[in-house]
Amino acid sequence: MSERLVILGAGESGVGAAILGKAKGFDVFVSDMGTLKDRYRDELNGADISFEEGRHSKELILNASLVVKSPGIPDNVFLVRELKNKSIPVISEIEFAGQYTSAKLICVTGSNGKTTTATMIYEMLKLGGLNVGLGGNIGESFARQVATKNYSHYVLELSSFQLDGMFEFKADVAVLMNITPDHLDRYNDNMQEYINSKFRIIQNQTADDVFIFFADDELIAQELKMREATQMLAPFSFNPVLTQNGAWVDNDKMKVKYNKNKFEMTIYDLALQGKHNLSNSMAAAIVGKVADIRNEFIRECLTGFAGVEHRLEKYISVHGIEFINDSKATNINSAWYALESMDKPTVWIVGGVDKGNDYSELTDLVKDKVRAIICLGKDNTKIVNAFSGVVPDIVETNSMEHAVKSAYFLAEKGDVVLLSPACASFDLFSNYEERGKMFKEEVRNL
Ligand code: ADP
Repeated sequence: MSERLVILGAGESGVGAAILGKAKGFDVFVSDMGTLKDRYRDELNGADISFEEGRHSKELILNASLVVKSPGIPDNVFLVRELKNKSIPVISEIEFAGQYTSAKLICVTGSNGKTTTATMIYEMLKLGGLNVGLGGNIGESFARQVATKNYSHYVLELSSFQLDGMFEFKADVAVLMNITPDHLDRYNDNMQEYINSKFRIIQNQTADDVFIFFADDELIAQELKMREATQMLAPFSFNPVLTQNGAWVDNDKMKVKYNKNKFEMTIYDLALQGKHNLSNSMAAAIVGKVADIRNEFIRECLTGFAGVEHRLEKYISVHGIEFINDSKATNINSAWYALESMDKPTVWIVGGVDKGNDYSELTDLVKDKVRAIICLGKDNTKIVNAFSGVVPDIVETNSMEHAVKSAYFLAEKGDVVLLSPACASFDLFSNYEERGKMFKEEVRNL
């Protein structure tokens, strides 16, 4: 009899795992508490994979020999605890799919910058002629690609929730962008637990593998001191560092060295400007060197990269006022970098559901850069209190239409209107993508 694989959660990762599990001969069952999207329901039916929706039936789940759990389901829910009590392995889709590919795996994690950096690396490797797939938190699930494609390399964006379900998996190249407080509600409000989760990106690495990380990040630096590195280290830093391998900035030049390979370019030619994007570009360039991509392709990628929607996306200008969509900025750190990179007076649209934000970290930047604040959320009290007296104009709104019109009204020619909410979106929108799209729609309507 074939082994029973139960998949909890029928989103892109769950359905991908189901397709792969079926191809590998498992008896697959998919269970989702919510309602399935039509295309996934059709797909499971078409592939003759049994599933349920609107419930988790214990009798159909607790008989599993292996469970693949969606990263959206916390570890402490009753069903997952029961599975663990019965010693049934609960893993993530990435761990599962990793068992069925011998492709080189380049994995990117961090609190911010994952999607941008992973996409940049993917574009670079593709330009360099590698047969590469992009997966993890982006686009088609890794499992689906392992089942249906034949890539020699994968670039995977990994969240801490995915990493938590990974045990045997090994990244050939691990990239850690930064660690700042986020999602602490899922880590018992314990920063060390969150750090441990992010560091799972390097578990099982050996001397042949590479760890690329942001050396200026204090939490990363501290954690590394407590560990013995077995893999090759390739840090990136804003300061000139004397290191064997890595990337750094020296006199407005970005310099990269990996073994005997070198690359350099002026930072003004980078397609994505702003300090945070310099980090992202350095990380991507190191991967380029590790993968032996020719310098001309690394340069072509870094100077031509179009960016990713909703990440400091320069949308359009209306009567000399530029509108920037940074809807993906869902925490203080990403909004900090957005504000830091503004070089014109800024009308800042901020707010939503905050995960315990401390707005005082932004006070200096706001004083320096922000002309007016438009709060966009159901409850704006914290923001109003934090910035009263710092910024002369603070307007409260609770719809995108009102927010964009108010911003337009307060902005002057030559200003920027920046949507960089520092908060999650689900008080007024279904997700950050919808929030960003509505922003652009309202800007078009001006
Ligand atoms: P993630 O996938 O980790 O959420 P994204 O690339 O989607 O990261 O970017 C999310 C937000 O963080 C955007 O607002 C973006 O401008 C900002 N950001 C991008 N890279 C960095 C970085 N290296 N450090 C801090 N913020 C960043």
